[in-house]
Amino acid sequence: MNKDLKCYIAFIVLPAIALAVGGVLFLHGEFARQQEGIQNWRKIRGEFMGELAQNVQGALKDSADGPARIKALLDLRAEKEERVKGVFLWKKGEGVIWQEGVSEAVRAAFPTNAKWHAVGSKSMSMKRGWTAPVTNNANLAVAWARPASGEVAGLEVDLRDNLTGSDPRDLFAAGTCIVALLFVILLVGGLLLVRAARRARTESARKTTFIDNLSHELKIPLAVVRMKVERLLAGKIAEPEKLQAAYRTIAEENGEVIRQVDDLLELVRTGKGTRRYVRAIFDLNLAVDEAAAALRDRFSPDGLEVKLAGGTVRVDADPDAVRQIIRNLLDNAAKYAAAKGPVEVAVAHAGGWARVTVADRGDGIPPNERERIFERFYRIDNDLTRTTGGTGIGLCLARCFARDMGGEVTADARPGGGSVFTLELPEVRHD
Ligand code: ADP
Repeated sequence: MNKDLKCYIAFIVLPAIALAVGGVLFLHGEFARQQEGIQNWRKIRGEFMGELAQNVQGALKDSADGPARIKALLDLRAEKEERVKGVFLWKKGEGVIWQEGVSEAVRAAFPTNAKWHAVGSKSMSMKRGWTAPVTNNANLAVAWARPASGEVAGLEVDLRDNLTGSDPRDLFAAGTCIVALLFVILLVGGLLLVRAARRARTESARKTTFIDNLSHELKIPLAVVRMKVERLLAGKIAEPEKLQAAYRTIAEENGEVIRQVDDLLELVRTGKGTRRYVRAIFDLNLAVDEAAAALRDRFSPDGLEVKLAGGTVRVDADPDAVRQIIRNLLDNAAKYAAAKGPVEVAVAHAGGWARVTVADRGDGIPPNERERIFERFYRIDNDLTRTTGGTGIGLCLARCFARDMGGEVTADARPGGGSVFTLELPEVRHD
């Protein structure tokens, strides 16, 4: 398992899961505790109100004057502070003559001059009682007593199930959502990490294969050069034609080594974004013609057909980079497909774009590989690549160059079999 992944699991996932499970258990315990409190309150609510009304009656019995009544009421309120929100005194003809903390709903239920009546209760002839709801607001009730005729003293009581904070059900739901979110974030983070680890592993495997392939690609021409030089030094090649051929082979193989090293340097530069393009306006027909001529001997006599466009197809690009793209496409066609039929390279105008297509009759490229072949060091794993040299950087460079110059390189299936690679660059209009 990847080291980063192990750290992530050990220091993030496991503690977070423990935290999340602990969180859910805690929330659940709290919720159950609150629910129990609510059930108990619901059961005793009526008794509590009856007892409160009795207490009001009891407290006011001995307090004949106003200040003494007020004090008695405030004492009662202090005693049951949690539930009793307000206290008031009402007098017939005068309305509420003193109040503290009483809500608008209760004040409205005790009008100034109207004959006093309590909403929701028919027990006004009694000396004490409680009314609920005072209005439509079911959370309020009044515990009252009549200390004298025409007078009412009352306590406003909060009847809500849960006095403080939000509804515990909402809190529990919110807490569970947060914990679930935590899980999802962790899961997504984990999946991203696993993906990154997999990618890193694939990339590293590809790099290793690339180094193997590159050493192979360099070793073969260097071995040929060495063999030729040794034969030359030993004086084993004497005839002028053979000498010429040996020198040509040395130059060609040396050129191959230089090309591989150049590709490698280009890859480093494009990766760092430091490749400099020297742009010029030129005819794409000429670039294709030159590249085809340079690679013609890689094909059989009628193995490469070149179809140039009528007139000039002008592009504003780096001629070396364009030639390198076309050479790479032709080189691949020669390596992977030329044995199966002629390769056609064509230049065309395509609605504001200058287009080069390299079409072959090879085995083609499976649809799921058509993008991947443009990745760095990627080579399709098949018999063809196993027996053909290559490093997997040619198409990656081709696409990088094309994109840097405002164009694109793509691969498609060719109708009737084979592949067609297309290079498109913005065409410069003739003005
Ligand atoms: P290389 O040729 O060095 O392997 P490239 O980047 O040029 O690297 O190509 C990547 C891969 O794309 C090749 O390894 C090959 O599997 C596949 N490929 C490229 N051109 C063709 C083609 N014309 N037909 C079939 N497969 C191709």
